Amino acid sequence: MAQRILEPGEIETLAAHSIPRVRIPDRTRLFAKRAERLRTLAATSPIGDYLRLFAVVADAQHAAVADFPAELPGAAQIEMAQTHRMPPIAAASWPRAPQWRATLQAICAAAARQPHLPAPIVQITAGLRDAAADELEAQADILLGARDGGIDAAAAPFLMAALQVNWLALASRFAANEVKPIDVPGLCPLCGSLPVSSIVATQTPYQGYRYLHCALCACEWHMVRVQCSQCGAAGKDIAYRSLASATAAGDAAIAAAVRAETCEHCHSYRKILYQEKDPGVEPVADDLASIALDLLLAEAGYARASGNPLLWQPAQG
Ligand SMILES: [Zn+2]
Ligand SMILES: [Zn+2]
Repeated sequence: MAQRILEPGEIETLAAHSIPRVRIPDRTRLFAKRAERLRTLAATSPIGDYLRLFAVVADAQHAAVADFPAELPGAAQIEMAQTHRMPPIAAASWPRAPQWRATLQAICAAAARQPHLPAPIVQITAGLRDAAADELEAQADILLGARDGGIDAAAAPFLMAALQVNWLALASRFAANEVKPIDVPGLCPLCGSLPVSSIVATQTPYQGYRYLHCALCACEWHMVRVQCSQCGAAGKDIAYRSLASATAAGDAAIAAAVRAETCEHCHSYRKILYQEKDPGVEPVADDLASIALDLLLAEAGYARASGNPLLWQPAQG
């Protein structure tokens, strides 16, 4: 029987329909999985103590998100956002639940209970627990891009952890088919934040596709592989580096579960995680734990396209 050959336009249309564009995060599992992964990675990471501390933070996030309130946009607001190709729960403008500050208290209390906590961390968590509400709201506004101002780099990861709870509570209540593309493909279609890293999935129906992972709400959105998530350059401008490739030859670079996708066009990179190489990879935890790869790339002249929410790095030029 003769098969009809598809025209190129038809092939693209079919492909666009068969790839799940968005993966909605699961609030019952996300932080628990992250905590577990941070503990696993702590055993071999040069920043093991830091990862163990943020595993405790992730435990507190997991406990807090269970009954965190979620005031979602109404159907008309979602439609309005879609009409303008804007994110419906934009980090900079969607109102935060005041409970995020109670979550921050719980996170800081959990951290402070850890034995042998370094003195600077004791100070930071105590300072955050004593801070006035308007001070915390002002820091949150700056972190979420709602206004300009100085960031307290040491306190930022704790604030971001509390804000992640607020946005995961919202994002996890959307259905994937409610999430429409926005004008900037490199930004989260739900909250408009930058991705922390990307992940190539193995489970059906996502198998073999690459998803960018939002640093704030944990929504994941599809982006084709071998394309810069920062500037959109593709093909010969894109290369991959891993820690193994720095110390070993040949296949070691190919086999690494965590690689940096570098771009010769904009000289930036984001990490890309491969579930087929390690089913346990987690976008925030593995990005944080592989800080040695960041140092390697900084030496090679590449800038991180965006930071990790749990480790505030000064902006790179
Ligand atoms: Zn988001
Ligand atoms: Zn680029």
